[in-house]
Amino acid sequence: MSVHKIAFLPGDGIGQEVTPEARRALEVVGKATGASFEFELGLVGGSAIDATGGPLPDAALRLCQQADAILFGSVGGPKWDNLPQEVRPERGLLRIRKELDLFANLRPAKCFPMLVDASPLKRSVVEGTDLMVIRELTAGLYFGEPRGREALPGGGEKAINTMSYTTREIERVVRAAFDVAMKRKKRLASVDKSNVLIVSQLWRDTVNRLAKEYPQVQVEHVLVDNCAMALIHKPTHFDTLVTENTFGDILSDEAAILAGSMGMLPSASLGGKVGLYEPVHGTAPDIAGKGIANPIAAILSAAMLLRYSLDRGSDADRVEGAVLRVLEQGHRTADIRGTADKALGTQQMGDLICRQIERSY
Ligand code: NAD
Repeated sequence: MSVHKIAFLPGDGIGQEVTPEARRALEVVGKATGASFEFELGLVGGSAIDATGGPLPDAALRLCQQADAILFGSVGGPKWDNLPQEVRPERGLLRIRKELDLFANLRPAKCFPMLVDASPLKRSVVEGTDLMVIRELTAGLYFGEPRGREALPGGGEKAINTMSYTTREIERVVRAAFDVAMKRKKRLASVDKSNVLIVSQLWRDTVNRLAKEYPQVQVEHVLVDNCAMALIHKPTHFDTLVTENTFGDILSDEAAILAGSMGMLPSASLGGKVGLYEPVHGTAPDIAGKGIANPIAAILSAAMLLRYSLDRGSDADRVEGAVLRVLEQGHRTADIRGTADKALGTQQMGDLICRQIERSY
């Protein structure tokens, strides 16, 4: 019997409400398949600050390092907003990313047929959208040196950030993207600004070199400005996209809007040995504690965990299928309610999805 060790870090706010539903979904998969999921709780974010004084106790980091995968909620909230930068809740997540070398961020954006009208774009544009944005997460403009601000002798200031990438940093995320594209429709769009940026030229050369190792994947290069337009003009053109950190930050949020609600969007951060899975949304202080948050992003993150860390693609299909079926039956949480009569709470939605997963075996 396979035993999967999962570090369970719900964090703060609605993280505490939706992550247990994702855990339940995995437990149902375990029961149906005979696989055993062992969850161990770790403190992170504001709740870790309250209990230990810091946003990521050593014990939680060790737990993550020794797990097969990390199921993460979200961190932060007004209670901790006035703390100094170095002890803020999000530092806990940033430290996990750094210590585990999580350099590839995967963000799917799928427009569910029954939620098409929740998208701000026209039905004719978004219908059928199903794409995956892969963003480099640990290098580029946000980390490059030199950086800083300095006073100029004649008055005013000069501010500097540096966009820098090594071949190795590009190669590893692009390789991850080819591997993901192979599990999807075998189409990869590499997004850059190679008509202006030298970094993008190295990026493009590296993609072209690696493409020879993946002859089954159809590769196209897209300039980032064109990509931004195409995403809202013809999102169905894309399947898998890969891009550097800053472009990815912006494009993944743009792609997210296509899906309609924050409560529907899962993500994965991959790199070294252990992957981290979390909903894209934050701790939603406006609805935290009310039991009305949508657990679907967290449950779909658990499906990604099955697919990418545990190589259990067919179980992931069942979890995703169960979400689709529950939505098809007309069940909705408040954020995606539309014209539905009744909005379900977090646990009620979790119950229905778990029951569907069970039935699928
Ligand atoms: P948010 O994602 O928490 O909320 C934005 C809006 O979407 C809110 O109106 C919220 O009610 C709604 N929403 C989000 N998730 C939902 C769900 N599952 N179901 C129903 N509605 C949902 O973003 P924010 O308000 O900008 O941030 C709140 C806090 O979360 C801040 O402290 C921020 O730093 C933190 N945050 C953490 C992460 C993370 O841990 N990775 C990510 C983003 C924001």
